[in-house]
Amino acid sequence: MAIDIRPASTVEDYQLEEWMRCPYKYYHKNILGIAPDYLNWRQMAQYGVNHVINDYYLLPNSERTDAKILELVQRRWTNKISRFYSYSHFHEVRSEIAGNLMYFLLEDQQSTPPLILFERFKVWVDELHVHLSMIFQLVQGTEKSYVIKKYLVDEDPDVISMFKHMAIIFSCKAFLALPEKIEVYLLLSGNKLVFEPSQNDIKESIDFLNLTKKLMDDASYYTKSDSVTECKTCPFRNKCHQEANQKTKIYH
Ligand code: SF4
Repeated sequence: MAIDIRPASTVEDYQLEEWMRCPYKYYHKNILGIAPDYLNWRQMAQYGVNHVINDYYLLPNSERTDAKILELVQRRWTNKISRFYSYSHFHEVRSEIAGNLMYFLLEDQQSTPPLILFERFKVWVDELHVHLSMIFQLVQGTEKSYVIKKYLVDEDPDVISMFKHMAIIFSCKAFLALPEKIEVYLLLSGNKLVFEPSQNDIKESIDFLNLTKKLMDDASYYTKSDSVTECKTCPFRNKCHQEANQKTKIYH
């Protein structure tokens, strides 16, 4: 069956991330329009984290304490225990993330309000012939020098790489200057990644996005990721595994 995939006029950050995680899952959700009926535990945790960070940076400096972070995590954390592998997994993830959030947020001594706090931006990128749309969690600094920060539950290296390339392109197109740093905070492992982009990185980021967009517009690249982490919580796994079994029967 021929699949009609019209190139999108706007590419959203979450679509690129979904495609990076598993093109086959992206195809079912975004091309066939079969929406999954639930968010997995990583998405639920990320949702809570986003609220905590937003609430935290709206507080005056004097109220940014470890006790406040714990209170926010308590208030904003999902109560959908069934989305996690088990009751103990639910608690483990919450306490790991609360601990790392406390460490990362309290080490930030910036007293001025963020330049950007959870805002979506959309820019036209001539080189890609599309609008790119992206949410920035946190941008701090001055008009002359700024740092882009991202707090992630998902530690997929491809997703992190995509974020870095998108942030570089957005910085050039929307803010007309590269950031001093792009910092990625990994809330499950407690690791922090720091990129210091230079002018030489801009072409690499455009090439990366150009290639990704071409692959997304080509149905033959809707391959399965077979990533253990991704498949474990995938709403299409029954269908996916059935198809894999059928193919095995045909080819043997
Ligand atoms: S089960 Fe795994 S390979 Fe299949 S669609 Fe889901 S994430 Fe992709």
